[in-house]
Amino acid sequence: MHILIGLIVAFLLVLLLTNRKTRNCRWRANRRADTDGRAAWHCVTCGAQSFTTDGKAPQTCHAETPPPTL
Ligand SMILES: [Zn+2]
Repeated sequence: MHILIGLIVAFLLVLLLTNRKTRNCRWRANRRADTDGRAAWHCVTCGAQSFTTDGKAPQTCHAETPPPTL
């Protein structure tokens, strides 16, 4: 019985650690949404949309950082 509990705890720990590692966005270029001079990016993790001017993927996850207030 103790082995079973240990296995469940280990499994939950792996799940938690994995979620923390994969929390960041995984950006994919969305060429169809490109506007002049700006590259469109779509996050497959949280579904966020973002634009960059240097053609590189954004470094931040927009699911964690709320959009700046105007
Ligand atoms: Zn994201």
